Amino acid sequence: METNQQQEHVHLLIIGSGPAGYTAAIYAARANLKPVLYQGIQPGGQLTITTEVENYPGYPEGVQGPEMMVDFEKQATRMGADIRFGLATSVDFSSQPYKITIDENKVMTADAVIIATGASAKWLGLPSEQRLNGSGVSACAVCDGFFFRGKDVVIVGAGDTAAEEALYLSKMCNNVHMVVRRHEMRASMIMQDRVMKTSNIMVYWNSETLEVLGENKVEGVKLLNNKTQEETTIPVSAFFVAIGHQPNSDIFKDVLELDEQGYIKTVPGSSRTSLEGVFACGDVQDKIYRQAVTAAGSGCMAALDAERYLSAKEHNN
Ligand code: NDP
Repeated sequence: METNQQQEHVHLLIIGSGPAGYTAAIYAARANLKPVLYQGIQPGGQLTITTEVENYPGYPEGVQGPEMMVDFEKQATRMGADIRFGLATSVDFSSQPYKITIDENKVMTADAVIIATGASAKWLGLPSEQRLNGSGVSACAVCDGFFFRGKDVVIVGAGDTAAEEALYLSKMCNNVHMVVRRHEMRASMIMQDRVMKTSNIMVYWNSETLEVLGENKVEGVKLLNNKTQEETTIPVSAFFVAIGHQPNSDIFKDVLELDEQGYIKTVPGSSRTSLEGVFACGDVQDKIYRQAVTAAGSGCMAALDAERYLSAKEHNN
């Protein structure tokens, strides 16, 4: 190790600051594990780029996503967790204690590690999509669909998530316009079948989005049929993107078992990864549910698993 690097040892290191990471920190601090949590590049995680959250239990009037994450952080701090700004840039899990490098210069060693680095929604990359993000453009139908009850909306994508979200939206919106870039869907047959049998879902095959229309809120969408080159404009109030997520697991790819999409594999019913003493929770290991409340629940599981692991380890020493 280079001599100019700083080094510090902790009992439990938590990487990531969404609902999973902060919940793990709350539980771990209360169990006296003295957790240190590094927040990563986007303190608060994906919820800091949403607006109102109405489906998190305990907030009867709803809450703004960024405000909720400030509450999570305050609670973790009040319990005694040490919350720090910094990004885990590499790990060395080849021997214990595990080594985690922060911001490429500080080396933390830890007896146990909880990974809660989350996932990032993929976007089409259109300037209009970026400009109207949070003003009708969303990557989460379950979070934001409710705000567009009775309205016409677009959903882009053709995987299981897009199919599931189109069905979810069809129950509350007037019409759901589903934009599929090829002549077929990737979603499982059963999901495709359900989509095709739902009368208020209109599928636009071979179609790409040229622009999301509207000044301060979504008012429509301009599509291009890539077979006929025909352009169509549809008036809609919301634009949902469901073209997949990218788990933030790059630094773990050579050290932990990941699935083919890069999600960290955990032992079912637990937060245990392929390496003992390393636990994963939240969206970095969950491609199905991806909700704040499920992430928080899995953060609790990770803290309890880490607590059991550390006390067994101490007992054996
Ligand atoms: P997927 O990667 O399966 O699908 C992404 C979809 O988005 C594809 O249809 C793809 O099109 C489309 N797409 C990608 N980029 C663009 C783009 N730039 N423009 C337009 N369309 C684009 O992601 P999902 O999130 O749907 O699913 C991820 C995994 O999670 C899958 O394994 C899925 O089965 C699973 N899942 C399971 C569920 C369940 O079991 N209930 C629920 C949700 C997800 P193309 O097909 O042309 O590549």
